[in-house]
Amino acid sequence: MKGFSQTAGKLLKGLAGLVCHKYCRICDCPICQDDEYFCSDCWQGLNSCIVDSHCARCGKEISAYAKLPTGCPDCQEQTFHFDSIACTGVYQEPLRSLIINFKLADKTNLLKPIADLTRGTIERANFAEPIDFVVPVPLHWRRRFKRGFNQSALIAKSFSLPAAKFNTDLVRIRYTTQQARLTDAERHKNIKDAFAVRRYHNFSGKNVCLVDDVKTTGATLNECARVLKDAGANKVFAFVLAAARH
Ligand SMILES: [Zn+2]
Ligand SMILES: [Zn+2]
Repeated sequence: MKGFSQTAGKLLKGLAGLVCHKYCRICDCPICQDDEYFCSDCWQGLNSCIVDSHCARCGKEISAYAKLPTGCPDCQEQTFHFDSIACTGVYQEPLRSLIINFKLADKTNLLKPIADLTRGTIERANFAEPIDFVVPVPLHWRRRFKRGFNQSALIAKSFSLPAAKFNTDLVRIRYTTQQARLTDAERHKNIKDAFAVRRYHNFSGKNVCLVDDVKTTGATLNECARVLKDAGANKVFAFVLAAARH
């Protein structure tokens, strides 16, 4: 019976594909004309990934009642060079697949729904001071050449922060192993001294919104924020599309 229902399901999906000519950009199932990017299950899933309330210090999803003036109970011992962080969602399915698909393929098509998801976060982020520069976490040129684009730069460009300029003066000066393949302790070592600010471009007195797609331990954002502060930045606020539950 299970085999039969699976076959019937496949047949229905095949028929729907013939009628719809559109496929969900996350799970690849056929979708109808009304659904522009994702099937209803994936939309629902994405909505459940969006966080209502997160710790402004470490980005972890947390109830509004558990917030302390100094962060959440989990980040009291940690040192961050960024002044606060805003994140759109939790790095879990289907947001995880959306980000991976965005990075690996179909990038321009997915930027619009990603920008739609981030809009509310940016509006609510309430960065304490007006932002001068929106700065993406840079990729090493070799990785950018291979991928063809920097996903964080595309996300950063999709922002609308009044008076903020897109800025790429933070660069990656060392090719590093991908953080995802390392343990927490290795990540800090791997990323150390991997970034620099371009010569003759300083951030003196400027407020920066640093943008990345995913925050895992925060080691990358932290190192970028440290370099920006060394270059004179007044405040560095971080924005990520998704933060891992850590
Ligand atoms: Zn789907
Ligand atoms: Zn926290």
